[in-house]
Amino acid sequence: MMLLSAQKLTVRFGASEVLSGVTMGISAGEIVTVLGPNGSGKSTLLRALLGIVGAVSGTVTRSAGLRIGYVPQRLTMDRAMPMTVRRFLSLPQRVDDAAADTALGRVGLPGLGAQQMAALSGGQFQRVLLARALLVQPHLLILDEPTQGLDQPGEAAFYRLIEEVRRDTGAGVLMVSHDLHVVMAASDRVICLNHHICCEGTPRVVSNAPEYRALFGLGTQGALALYQHAHDHSHDHAPHAPAHHDHSGHDHSGHDHAEHDHAG
Ligand code: ADP
Ligand code: MG
Repeated sequence: MMLLSAQKLTVRFGASEVLSGVTMGISAGEIVTVLGPNGSGKSTLLRALLGIVGAVSGTVTRSAGLRIGYVPQRLTMDRAMPMTVRRFLSLPQRVDDAAADTALGRVGLPGLGAQQMAALSGGQFQRVLLARALLVQPHLLILDEPTQGLDQPGEAAFYRLIEEVRRDTGAGVLMVSHDLHVVMAASDRVICLNHHICCEGTPRVVSNAPEYRALFGLGTQGALALYQHAHDHSHDHAPHAPAHHDHSGHDHSGHDHAEHDHAG
């Protein structure tokens, strides 16, 4: 069942067109990850789908009665401010203790309600954000770079948690990530965004698409290279396709690949 979709969505800020004719959708139980360089419009896409940002053209379609749990990329919260986890879970909407306990248990933090937010590790903080998003009993989770600031074991653990939540609740998950190789393993479908959709499909299809390679490069230190080695046993960094056809007709060459070359 399609939960949420966009048809030819175009968003502008002033003169700059941040999204151009984006058509995509997410179904129940699906984990879809949006990948793209910084400034490519990933957060704007999520915000447009949520109706926080207006589109100049195109439409967003939601299934009737759709409940969405959203974790924004940057939470405007002063972490030095005294606040317990329990209190945080009741913002902006009050929830009862039983619901709070259930949500904390689901994200692997049972009994953590009395803890100060400021005392949480990075991984615990992200899990509390996820717990809060789960309180609305969402059909769809929208997570904007939920593993930002976590180390690789932390990222991997977080994605395993996402898969558990999907399995237990049947929720669809739409997320943004930069963590290429973890994402590749954890996603049913990947959407590669650079103001328009460059390519889309299963992780394997996308990782072999010339558009994706143009965006993320093939550096030997990169996470993509690790993924390719692990799954293809190929050490040949030449493009697999016999000829490079950029069907999109857009120039991706101006982007700084080094920025996405995850060394760790
Ligand atoms: P990403 O999440 O892929 O890094 P964003 O969607 O946050 O990219 O931003 C895409 C572009 O739109 C950036 O150039 C950013 O500066 C601009 N932008 C985002 N939100 C706004 C806004 N509310 N007003 C003006 N410009 C914005
Ligand atoms: Mg963003």
